[in-house]
Amino acid sequence: MMGRHDPVEFAAMPFNDLGAQRRRLAGKIDQAILRVLERGDFILGLEVEELEAELAAFCGAKEAISCSNGTDALALVLMALRVKPGDAILCPSFTFAATAEVIAWFGATPIFVDVHPGTFNMDPASLEAGIATARQLGLNPAGVIPVDLFGQPADYDALLPIADFHGLWCLCDAAQSFGSDYKGRKVGSIGLAASVSFFPAKPLGCYGDGGAVLTSDVELARTIRSLRVHGQGTDKYDNVRIGLNGRLDTVQAAVLLQKLTVFRDEIAARNRIAAAYTKALSDVVRVPVVLDRCISVWAQYTLRVDPGRRADLAAALKRRGIPTAIYYRKPLHHQRAYQDYPRAATGLRVSEKLAEEVISLPMHPYLDEQSQDRIIEAVREAVVP
Ligand SMILES: *Cc1c(COP(=O)(O)O)cnc(C)c1O
Repeated sequence: MMGRHDPVEFAAMPFNDLGAQRRRLAGKIDQAILRVLERGDFILGLEVEELEAELAAFCGAKEAISCSNGTDALALVLMALRVKPGDAILCPSFTFAATAEVIAWFGATPIFVDVHPGTFNMDPASLEAGIATARQLGLNPAGVIPVDLFGQPADYDALLPIADFHGLWCLCDAAQSFGSDYKGRKVGSIGLAASVSFFPAKPLGCYGDGGAVLTSDVELARTIRSLRVHGQGTDKYDNVRIGLNGRLDTVQAAVLLQKLTVFRDEIAARNRIAAAYTKALSDVVRVPVVLDRCISVWAQYTLRVDPGRRADLAAALKRRGIPTAIYYRKPLHHQRAYQDYPRAATGLRVSEKLAEEVISLPMHPYLDEQSQDRIIEAVREAVVP
């Protein structure tokens, strides 16, 4: 048994240990990259096609269109749907800026909606209120972008009927949740489309920027493939629509194909760690709520503590070499760039409260039991008076 002041116990641990995954896959990833370097098909090469087939199969979508990053994945869908000024798109305020940013790119109006305090995901009642707000402002509610925050799917059985009733399409921002399950279905097979990010720190990350759109709407997929390459028609120099350069590099696809071979195993590991955290901490802090028959990929494991105690908890953990992170310190409707956009008339009280309460613990598939115990013990000691 190690003493409380054993130096080993105080060695700093990483928040997200990409190095451990790298050690597991190093030989295979190096070989895969080398094959691309030797072949030289850097743009839309062999592995891009292979990856798209695997991503689609993984989540049960008809089509996967890889692209430059998770933000462009969102934008490609909005572009294909011809989102325009006068359109209102409903999205949560408690999310990463990219979700609302892409709406503004097209001159449409993001309308901020509140979230559920337990799951951090879009609150259906607030979505209803936001749609009413859009109409009161003379805007055309066109779509909704629920976010699967911290790796757990939003409550689509509650959200989709509301979207359908009001004639809204649903684009799932699955940047953090690729690989997760919603009541027996994989994210990517829900709604009109889902956007994914392969940013290095996401549950499935590459070695740079990357993303994908998943959809079973074959026509939408065809349009997005064209938009991804400058709106190309029959060939490279035939332009039938205004698009962008939004491709995924072949090298990144080769990296992702190798990482996909261990992804299911990593999701299982993340779930074991989350279960250990929840079991050991639920009596002293508010732990994240996972909906019945849903499986999160735990992009983050996020606690809620009383606002006055969050800084102390972070400092206490830091003294013991345990890093924490706060996602997100400011809801989007409090950010300078987004503060003037409309909000659901019933308010965004939960988003505002969460911004003061949330704190995320180290979470990655290679967090060993000794480290888990060290984190659990440190949290308990810090919060139990
Ligand atoms: C990371 C993220 C994005 C953007 O993905 P990038 O690949 O960084 O462009 C969008 N939405 C959410 C919720 C994210 O977490």
